Amino acid sequence: MPELPEIEHLRRTLAPHLVGAVVRTVTLHRRDILRHPHDVTTRSVGRRLLRDGRITTLARRGKQLAIITDDDRTVCIHLGMSGQLCYQSPGQRLPRTDHVHATWHLESPSGRALGRLAFRDPRRFGGLWAFDSRAELHALRWARLGPDGLDVPARDLQAALARTTRAVKAALLDQAVVAGVGNIYADEALFRARLNPTRSADAITAREATRLATAIRYILANAIEAGGSTLRDYVDANGDAGSFADRHLAYGRAGQPCRRCRETLTGIRIAQRATVFCTRCQP
Ligand SMILES: [Zn+2]
Repeated sequence: MPELPEIEHLRRTLAPHLVGAVVRTVTLHRRDILRHPHDVTTRSVGRRLLRDGRITTLARRGKQLAIITDDDRTVCIHLGMSGQLCYQSPGQRLPRTDHVHATWHLESPSGRALGRLAFRDPRRFGGLWAFDSRAELHALRWARLGPDGLDVPARDLQAALARTTRAVKAALLDQAVVAGVGNIYADEALFRARLNPTRSADAITAREATRLATAIRYILANAIEAGGSTLRDYVDANGDAGSFADRHLAYGRAGQPCRRCRETLTGIRIAQRATVFCTRCQP
């Protein structure tokens, strides 16, 4: 499943192609992939999906993207488990055309063809949410997310952890605590902050929360630089897979020696998710 770094990398690679472009037509191949609103008709669906709007912003919160036009119409995109958002320049063909559920045809304001954006999702855990404005997106969808992992303040993280007695690893996976941290980066951040993933979240001190927030920001920023982890189904807007997986210190390394102290890394399950940590570095 793509996590924040993959989505942010995707946002950065898509933005130069999308921002400034006008949506000439939109094709929705599967109506049920539009999750909100539910009252769209054949007539209104094009407008709901930004037809005739000029794209001004490609925003992100946690693992969700939003395309916003000059009249403030907003489409939120969640890639779910297997979703992809692919840009093709004019004349270029999609690597795969099966499971493409929506296609935006783009033009310059003067009417020159600028290619297409395609939303593809074989397993359909992702989807599209259409709003009248960015404020409506925030009110109905993004307000329930915690601070974005890329710039999560230590104080906010500590306050959110203090409200729960779950294991700190489980709390980190909760998008209302911090948005965009999934299983990979939770393990990596806890390793870097030298915190045991089984500790009760409300027992994390202010100093430890500061260390953890710093580690989350650092790990995510580094993973974005590397283009995200290489994950099944994940490719960026240009069809390239990321390389951050080569740098994992904890995630996926149970039974292997700790890269810091050579102790054998321990694998357990927390909140039904595989969790890897070092009993010596993360006591
Ligand atoms: Zn160690």
